[in-house]
Amino acid sequence: MTNRLEQALGKLKHSGVRMTPQRYAILSHLLNATSHPTADDIYRALEDKFPNMSVATVYNNLKVFIETGLVRELTFGDNSSRFDADMSSHYHAQCDQCGKIVDFHFPTLTEIEHTAAVETGFQVRGHRLDVHGVCKDCQSRMTH
Ligand code: ZN
Ligand code: MN
Repeated sequence: MTNRLEQALGKLKHSGVRMTPQRYAILSHLLNATSHPTADDIYRALEDKFPNMSVATVYNNLKVFIETGLVRELTFGDNSSRFDADMSSHYHAQCDQCGKIVDFHFPTLTEIEHTAAVETGFQVRGHRLDVHGVCKDCQSRMTH
């Protein structure tokens, strides 16, 4: 068992969240995924193993993970929500052609939050920054 899975399970237990085989499978799938899957992607990846599981079940479990602080929901314009179990601070780039989402790291932009707080009087809770463009795979598809 990975360390991250152990930690996540501990956090759920601490929060009083009951563990089920489906919940376990969804969580470990997300922890191993680097693709930022949609609820539908997760459903399709696990449907052979859990034929009775519905997409709604996947959604409900994701909601529990979000509330527990184990997963974050990413929204990119008109696409359906994507889910990320990597809670470290990082930003995302999305491909306009294939929709792929790739992580990138940049020092957290705390100054922008401070400036926004000063100028607006808001109690700032966060900010979002997404980059979009054409991924490497799509670039090579376009030139070949
Ligand atoms: Zn692409
Ligand atoms: Mn990510």
